[in-house]
Amino acid sequence: MPIVVVSSIINNVLTVSQHPIIDVAIVGGGAAGLASAIFTARRAPQASIVVLDGAKKIGAKILIAGGGRCNVTNQQVGVSDYCGGNPSFIKRVIAKLSVENTISFFREIGVELKVEEHGKLFPTTNKARTVLEALLSEANRCGVSIRCGQCVTSIQPVTDGFEIQSSDTTLHARKVVLAAGGQAMPKTGSDGSGYELAKRLGHSLVPMTPALVPLCLSGDFHTPLSGIAHDVEMMVQAEGCKLVRVFGALLWTHFGVSGPVVLDASRYWHRARHEGRGVNVTVSLLPGKDFAAIERLLLDLATQKPKSSLKNVLPRLLPARLAEAMLQALNIDGDTVMSHLPKDVRRQLVHALSAWPLPIHDSRGYAYAEVTAGGVSLSEVQPKTMASRKCPGLYLIGEILDVDGRIGGYNFQWAWSSAYTASAALAP
Ligand SMILES: Cc1cc2nc3c(=O)[nH]c(=O)nc-3n(C[C@H](O)[C@H](O)[C@H](O)COP(=O)(O)OP(=O)(O)OC[C@H]3O[C@@H](n4cnc5c(N)ncnc54)[C@H](O)[C@@H]3O)c2cc1C
Repeated sequence: MPIVVVSSIINNVLTVSQHPIIDVAIVGGGAAGLASAIFTARRAPQASIVVLDGAKKIGAKILIAGGGRCNVTNQQVGVSDYCGGNPSFIKRVIAKLSVENTISFFREIGVELKVEEHGKLFPTTNKARTVLEALLSEANRCGVSIRCGQCVTSIQPVTDGFEIQSSDTTLHARKVVLAAGGQAMPKTGSDGSGYELAKRLGHSLVPMTPALVPLCLSGDFHTPLSGIAHDVEMMVQAEGCKLVRVFGALLWTHFGVSGPVVLDASRYWHRARHEGRGVNVTVSLLPGKDFAAIERLLLDLATQKPKSSLKNVLPRLLPARLAEAMLQALNIDGDTVMSHLPKDVRRQLVHALSAWPLPIHDSRGYAYAEVTAGGVSLSEVQPKTMASRKCPGLYLIGEILDVDGRIGGYNFQWAWSSAYTASAALAP
């Protein structure tokens, strides 16, 4: 045991051999890191807690979230809203800080939330800044020290804790929380360096892929449709097996497709491709209707509007530009009147409407992804405390773990809940 010389006590921090001994050092001051600092400080007001963040300004991801409005959580959060590791692990953690608890927490720190479409909860101010400022002001009130521009490059276990090297400081902490996020949108500061730190502390990683990311299409079918949005039912299949079916809005863009339905389906496409499986993505352009229902619809239209042409009837079902592009791609004459639509052409049309193929060749990658799928394996973390099973004194929370949620506030809920779960064990 090395002899530790206590030289002074400043702001609850014991300084040892000129290096302060901090009770809890949190690496990463995003949603999970800030929340864990607050929850821990509330439980242990005397504790010294330092948040180290590599970014010059804290909270970039919170500020851009939800189109600048920050979708903090969702009215309904369940294990089926998440992918990754282990459903029972995720369920236990989410239960520790439920949606109701999350709403109360934000109310306590001055952020009222309101419910919007699909149960999404946003601040009533419609400003993500309200969320960030409230978290920072509560952290400050609780005596948490936040240090920006401190990219952590090494975390070394030592006898009584860890030695942490950041851009221009060496810190000594009894416990360390890795809350460094994933590698989606690295310009926000979450550049994946947290994974390397976790690996060096003995953790293994479930391979990472971008998730909640727009998809790029081959060909030029999508180009003239850029800007059109409509509801679809998207189906992702790998080698004949259905991976997922998602309903929602699709947005055609100059590079391919985006919109909530595409973002939600993207992780399945990426994972299948990563595993080397042949993956096939189609959209039903008339969601909720199967092949037979679509055929019936066209037959009914032929009875009601026998003299109308296809190019005039289809825009009743689809955005007009999409209908026109479809007819052109299928080489079907739009001037054909409904009463003279041959059976094989009708069937060709029904096939196209029920399963329009999307020739995806890639996604827009981490630069445009909202989250990272994969990460530190949940099997190496204790669900009761978020403590590492590999390295005593280390805790892992938030997106760095192998958990990713769908669109709708679920990723932030994971950050809040995992931070809360860790705080009980972190409080000295
Ligand atoms: C455009 C966009 C919109 C989104 N919208 C929503 C939404 O509305 N609702 C929702 O639920 N989710 C949303 N998400 C996802 C959500 O933002 C993340 O899941 C969540 O922020 C993860 O929190 P975290 O604290 O684990 O990681 P992060 O928020 O990524 O924070 C990690 C922090 O660690 C710091 N860091 C990284 N490495 C180091 C290091 N080596 N040393 C020091 N610091 C380091 C980073 O600078 C960063 O500040 C969105 C994401 C994006 C990109």
